[in-house]
Amino acid sequence: MLPVVALVGRPNVGKSTLFNVLTRTRDALVANQPGLTRDRHYGICRLGSRPFVVVDTGGLSGDDEGIDALTAKQVQLAVDEAAVVVFVTDARAGLTALDRDILADLRKRGKPLLVGVNKTDGLDEAGSLAEFAALGISTLVPLAASHGRGVDGLIEAIEPQLPPDDEVEAEEAADQGIRVAIVGRPNVGKSTLVNRLLGENRVVVSDIAGTTRDSIRVPIERDGKKYTLIDTAGVRRRARVEEAIEKFSVIKTLQSIAAAQVVLVMIDAQEGVSEQDATLIGHVLNEARALVVVANKWDDLSKYQREQCEKSLERRLDFVAWAERVFISAKHGSGLRELMKAVDRAHASATRQFSSSELNKAVEMAYESYQPPLVRGHAPKLRYAHPGGSNPPTIVIHGSRTKHLADSYKRYLENFFRKRFKLVGTPLRLEFRDGE
Ligand code: GDP
Ligand code: GDP
Repeated sequence: MLPVVALVGRPNVGKSTLFNVLTRTRDALVANQPGLTRDRHYGICRLGSRPFVVVDTGGLSGDDEGIDALTAKQVQLAVDEAAVVVFVTDARAGLTALDRDILADLRKRGKPLLVGVNKTDGLDEAGSLAEFAALGISTLVPLAASHGRGVDGLIEAIEPQLPPDDEVEAEEAADQGIRVAIVGRPNVGKSTLVNRLLGENRVVVSDIAGTTRDSIRVPIERDGKKYTLIDTAGVRRRARVEEAIEKFSVIKTLQSIAAAQVVLVMIDAQEGVSEQDATLIGHVLNEARALVVVANKWDDLSKYQREQCEKSLERRLDFVAWAERVFISAKHGSGLRELMKAVDRAHASATRQFSSSELNKAVEMAYESYQPPLVRGHAPKLRYAHPGGSNPPTIVIHGSRTKHLADSYKRYLENFFRKRFKLVGTPLRLEFRDGE
């Protein structure tokens, strides 16, 4: 599972600015997706050589500020999970009493600590660091987050502190079949589904080799095919519903999404798509994972409720219109065969290999049937294409003035490719290059 880096500090030092820089997605189409609400506190940084989960602990505590905020549950959880804590300070304000209090508290947690000295823009760097040297933490990193400066240095300081990743690789190598994560809000029915999928071959989870507290990987077989369920909360037994809600962890959810090849996002059909569901799906999209949207508790609905649920899926999830929707009852076990077929289709699409000739042909056809509008008298041109990788499938299109292609034209191309190559359940990445 990906390691966690927590950003901690008093209000206004620039934590959320730094968070945005660290987690910004390179996919313009994802970034500008209408309907997609970005998570302001949890994200994944892929700027360095090793990805990690970033948590901005500012504001996680609700109204509490300063030292009180540190005692909030979600903040505690983030610090507990963290491999590294970045204590963010403000060079302009200098070292304050509250800084010292927060740091004293953090020291008790025994986590590797770095100090990010932010807002050094326009200041003498050495001078502004000197004051913070008094904190006695050896690694001080100068930052100007709002200018995107110092971020490389910060990542360089973080990386050596992260746990070695051979363990993860070994785990993944041992996995069989498609890696499937089941995520969703508490009580949507994740554990019920996992138990259903385990079926008669019910396995005692703690007996599965290689499972640790943090990563539970459950091998299953359905209709002669193998899968590995990557589970956060679903498999573990728990006593009470409240406990589940309390323990709902966005961090674990993000780690599961990152570890999976196909993500099942479970939605409570009785309630329709909530804000939190949409945000979860935003994470799946950011990570460019294959996706199946699962509406659970279908058994318990009237005809009217079913229509409402379908409408809500259509309206609120139009930014992932390519994802299949499957309606199931985990409780009664209905719809599971269709669900696993959707998983197979999504995975097949996500790993689809293209030949250059079929891509060239497709680009030619798409361009011939609808050409991009003129930009100051010049039309962007598309010439040829080649495959740029899979998972998600990536198509590299060469042409001229491609930076003038409107988002709407890019969507047209995306839809064209999706139809032509029958891609379902996977994001599709288009990259454009100018020149020969
Ligand atoms: P948070 O409360 O710690 O999350 O702080 P924010 O990220 O909301 O930033 C607080 C203010 O500081 C905002 O007005 C930011 O624009 C500003 N800010 C953040 N980073 C920098 C920086 O590197 N330089 C300067 N000059 N201002 C910054
Ligand atoms: P989790 O927190 O996502 O793991 O949710 P659980 O699997 O613990 O389920 C929460 C509650 O929803 C339990 O009371 C289940 O019995 C109920 N539930 C789960 N799946 C279904 C379903 O398909 N139909 C109905 N009616 N109830 C369900």
